[in-house]
Amino acid sequence: MTKMYGPYVGPDGRKRIQIVHDDGRHQIKSYPKYLLEQKIGRELEGDETCDHIDEDFTNDDPNNLQVLTRIQNATKAMLFRPVEMYSFNCPVCKTYTSKPMSQVRHNWNLGKSGPVCSKSCAGLVGKNLTVHETTYEFDPITKEVIVTSNSWEID
Ligand SMILES: [Zn+2]
Repeated sequence: MTKMYGPYVGPDGRKRIQIVHDDGRHQIKSYPKYLLEQKIGRELEGDETCDHIDEDFTNDDPNNLQVLTRIQNATKAMLFRPVEMYSFNCPVCKTYTSKPMSQVRHNWNLGKSGPVCSKSCAGLVGKNLTVHETTYEFDPITKEVIVTSNSWEID
């Protein structure tokens, strides 16, 4: 007889179970995946993932679980993920514009200044522009990051 322990909630908030097989092998399995396999009566195959239909990964109701291929799941994740936009006035030409927050953050992490609106504006300031963003907030309705105030220094 295989024994099942759990579910345990991991540090990422997802539930897992531990299965101990007759031969002593221990296996950790995602709890929703286990529930889905019980529902469909077989194990998931390599290309299949357990998808939470409502995108709430804590909702492990079997009716909320379905099999999706990895590509289908990635496509769905892209549709559901809100895109944070960083909206700002370009410090060079004063044009109001938006950029994906992920791109802006990535550049900040690299120690780059900015953002500015375009490559041509970036060319005008080179590396001598420093943007101090004072506050920004994410609006879940418009999916935009609203910059309430910021200031610039051009050396
Ligand atoms: Zn500009």
